[in-house]
Amino acid sequence: ETPAAVEAAASHAAAPTTTTIAISNRDRVIYPESNITKGQLADHYAAVADIMLPWAGSRPISLVRCPQERAKKCFFQKHDAGTFGETVKHVGILEKDGHEEPYLFVDTPDGLLSCVQMGTIEFHGWGARIEDVEKADRLVFDLDPDEGLDFEAVRTAAFHFRDILGTIGLETFPMVTGGKGIHVIVPLVPKAEWPEVKDFAHRLAQAVAQTDPANFTAALPKAQRKGRIFVDYLRNQRGATAVMPYSVRARPQAPIAAPITWKEMESISSPANFHVGDAATLLKRAASKALVGWGRADQVLPDL
Ligand code: ATP
Ligand code: MN
Ligand code: MN
Repeated sequence: ETPAAVEAAASHAAAPTTTTIAISNRDRVIYPESNITKGQLADHYAAVADIMLPWAGSRPISLVRCPQERAKKCFFQKHDAGTFGETVKHVGILEKDGHEEPYLFVDTPDGLLSCVQMGTIEFHGWGARIEDVEKADRLVFDLDPDEGLDFEAVRTAAFHFRDILGTIGLETFPMVTGGKGIHVIVPLVPKAEWPEVKDFAHRLAQAVAQTDPANFTAALPKAQRKGRIFVDYLRNQRGATAVMPYSVRARPQAPIAAPITWKEMESISSPANFHVGDAATLLKRAASKALVGWGRADQVLPDL
């Protein structure tokens, strides 16, 4: 990294995106464990908007809203009753019964901030863009460790997926979720539709589980996950969501879902290494050579 690049990133970090959205009750404590307020949440999203929107923008989103505090009366919201204002936009999506429902998307910093104003903590997104919601623009292998497994097992699993996907020509990008696991993300040129995408993810997850049944399972019954890592391939079906990069989590200490590099994966000790307050660090990292192309690869699913 050149000193100029570092300087540019640092000055960018010092000047968060300006928004026109008024945030009420900035002093309301949302995280009682650490006294993090609604104002601090809003400042986080304003700061990371420019690095968050390239991935999270213009795709159908679901929100985890906690209008009171992080573990009180939270709910997962896919549609709105028109209360978010015009910066939170709608895309009509056909439901199974054939009628259309308006789903939410944002494509500006103001859109993100309007959601925060309405009590949003987490942003989750479909694996498709609003231009064509039937075609996936990513796969995600959501690696969920059973309780008691240490992070080392998750790390090993993530590398396993990177290697197997690499063998069939797919480049992958890791993200720490801010929770317990890792998402291994495979960007796709939107081409394959959901049934094919889900089938591919399912077969790959099963194949991995079969090569190492002591450590992995793709089986849905909880009992079969004991002591193992559950490969949650169901994130790859129509309508399923995954947490968006740079989203804050509604968990103690306000951790952030954060893109990392495979090199970093070798040495990190936790899936929650960034928190509200780390926006400047995240911006600087996002501008670094190692992370600049994160989540970008022109590739399609191979025939298996
Ligand atoms: P962790 O690393 O702790 O597993 P995570 O974000 O991967 O964090 P999961 O519980 O594995 O959490 O969920 C994966 C994704 O599935 C979530 O990010 C979310 O988008 C979606 N999801 C989970 N629970 C629900 C739910 N109740 N309703 C809708 N979507 C959900
Ligand atoms: Mn998970
Ligand atoms: Mn999961």
